[in-house]
Amino acid sequence: MPVTHECDLAIVGGGLAGGLIALALAARRPDLSIRIVEAGDVLGGNHLWSFFDADVSREDRWLLTPLVCHAWPGYDVAFPAHRRTINQPYYSIESERLDQVVRKALPAGSIMTGCKVLACSPTAVVLADGERIEAKGVIDARGPGDLSMLEVGWQKFVGRLLDIPAGHGVAHPMVMDATIAQYDGYRFVYLLPFSPTQLFVEDTYYSDSATLNVGALNRRIDVYAEAKGWAATPAGREEKGALPVVIGGDFEAYWRWGGAKVAKAGARAGLFHPTTGYSLPDAVRLAIRIAEATDLSGEGLHDLTHDYAQARWNERRFYRMLDAMLFRAAEPDARYKVLERFYRLHPNLIARFYAARSTGKDKLRVLSGKPPVPLFRALRVIRKAN
Ligand SMILES: Cc1cc2nc3c(=O)[nH]c(=O)nc-3n(C[C@H](O)[C@H](O)[C@H](O)COP(=O)(O)OP(=O)(O)OC[C@H]3O[C@@H](n4cnc5c(N)ncnc54)[C@H](O)[C@@H]3O)c2cc1C
Repeated sequence: MPVTHECDLAIVGGGLAGGLIALALAARRPDLSIRIVEAGDVLGGNHLWSFFDADVSREDRWLLTPLVCHAWPGYDVAFPAHRRTINQPYYSIESERLDQVVRKALPAGSIMTGCKVLACSPTAVVLADGERIEAKGVIDARGPGDLSMLEVGWQKFVGRLLDIPAGHGVAHPMVMDATIAQYDGYRFVYLLPFSPTQLFVEDTYYSDSATLNVGALNRRIDVYAEAKGWAATPAGREEKGALPVVIGGDFEAYWRWGGAKVAKAGARAGLFHPTTGYSLPDAVRLAIRIAEATDLSGEGLHDLTHDYAQARWNERRFYRMLDAMLFRAAEPDARYKVLERFYRLHPNLIARFYAARSTGKDKLRVLSGKPPVPLFRALRVIRKAN
């Protein structure tokens, strides 16, 4: 007889969104029995998740505090014509820490790793080995859904942690170093100094295609390190990804693809910043909302998560329009000029942009002046994307 587990709430997918929901529930609703089901052997996979100080409000910060592994007082950007330090804190979380903290917070038996889920409904989960979970509510947090429902460009990257015994001299994260040769769209290097001798180096592209030539990008990381005079060896951590940069699309079609009536969280809910593909700030806010909700039935969770994600989609049209300008109006090798101009703006405006909380005045400021893309082409793509 296949085993059936019972609980109040089943979280399908133990990545960033699922892990944060589990943590928020453990803190705010310890009375509930939870199951978190993850296909991999660990929660969180192999990730580094970074965020800006303004991305997460002070009142929500408690959820991330135990997870933060690295914190810096500011970050840098560098372009051919302009270089700048922005004195606003920046943080990184290593996925290993998420695994440790969630395991510590949840009662024994709540975490099921190495368990692939075949299907879920608002109140049941079917595992590949035939076991079932019956829950009062189910949340699907299995990562991105079918992105072909959306019109997207890509932010793609390969990153490696390097040991540099003589020291790298990088004081702050370098969020964008675009002073380098441009290939395959807009290219920049992203740096995170974990210690005076350990540096995470990521070669990144805003590209029309999601195809990643990992070997070529790794070689470009080597070339970058050599040009900086760093005698470097790989230090273990590596990551790669292709994140959607959303230009347009049908939110409801994306949502329905994963089972119309099942609650969703994280990338599966379409909850990520249209321009960066980053989902951490939304994941924190939604996890806390779920933990504060009174109706945690399958239907109640569906309505809460759907309405939350739909509201974010509706209010982020401005970012999709900018993405359309970046990908459809700017020539690929001139995309860096859009970012170079953006990074001349006020630090608080930049912070609100990354937090997807731009004000009306911010939006006007971003669009005012002489745009670094052909104006008529920009107007055409804006009309088409919206
Ligand atoms: C390499 C990389 C770096 C990134 N860096 C950042 C960053 O710095 N900041 C930021 O905000 N965002 C970042 N992102 C973007 C985004 O925030 C992350 O992808 C984030 O992990 C998405 O969270 P999620 O919970 O939706 O999906 P995930 O974290 O991917 O979690 C989904 C989980 O579901 C599991 N799963 C999938 N299918 C099944 C199944 N059938 N059964 C059981 N489990 C299943 C997966 O194994 C996975 O653990 C990054 C993305 C990548 C790929």
